[in-house]
Amino acid sequence: MSKIEIEELISEEEIKTRIKQIAGDITADYSGKSLLFVGILKGSFIFLADLVRQAGVKTEIAFMALSSYADSSCSNGEVKLLYDSLESVEGKHLLVVDDIADTGVTLAFLTRVLSMRRPLSLKFCVLLDKPSRRKVEVALDYIGFQIPDEFVVGYGLDYAGDFRNLKGIYKALNI
Ligand code: 5GP
Ligand code: MG
Repeated sequence: MSKIEIEELISEEEIKTRIKQIAGDITADYSGKSLLFVGILKGSFIFLADLVRQAGVKTEIAFMALSSYADSSCSNGEVKLLYDSLESVEGKHLLVVDDIADTGVTLAFLTRVLSMRRPLSLKFCVLLDKPSRRKVEVALDYIGFQIPDEFVVGYGLDYAGDFRNLKGIYKALNI
């Protein structure tokens, strides 16, 4: 396998600044309420960890893992729930936190699955958004950065399991 070349797209400092802003919005929007953050594994783990420490709300955490067939040759939008640590969500405000909204298939699936469980409210927060790739409409409530159609790694996002620990977001140049 040839070596992957990467180039910085969003710096550690830019991410920190933006997360403080989003956390401020979340704190204002959920003032006086408690919030159940639902992190989508694995890509959101660093974003979630930074976000919850900046947000000044009473916090619970849960995780879900999904398998998605991101390959565009398989556009049937099939998503499977692999792991789900959520118990009853009745009476709870849910904020789903994911790394990136690409085709939108994953978040559309989650909208269906989670709204059936009747939470008090359901919102979506993504660090990155690639609007030009969207196949399915999804309502995003908090967006870190809109990016062009590039494959990105770092800050939780991987390529073949690698690069998740990078402090910034990088585009992969030769994959
Ligand atoms: P969807 O196409 O369903 O919106 O996105 C599904 C998942 O594909 C995302 O949660 C993310 O894990 C992965 N994905 C989409 N675009 C990228 C990207 O540019 N880089 C990485 N590492 N993963 C991506
Ligand atoms: Mg993901």
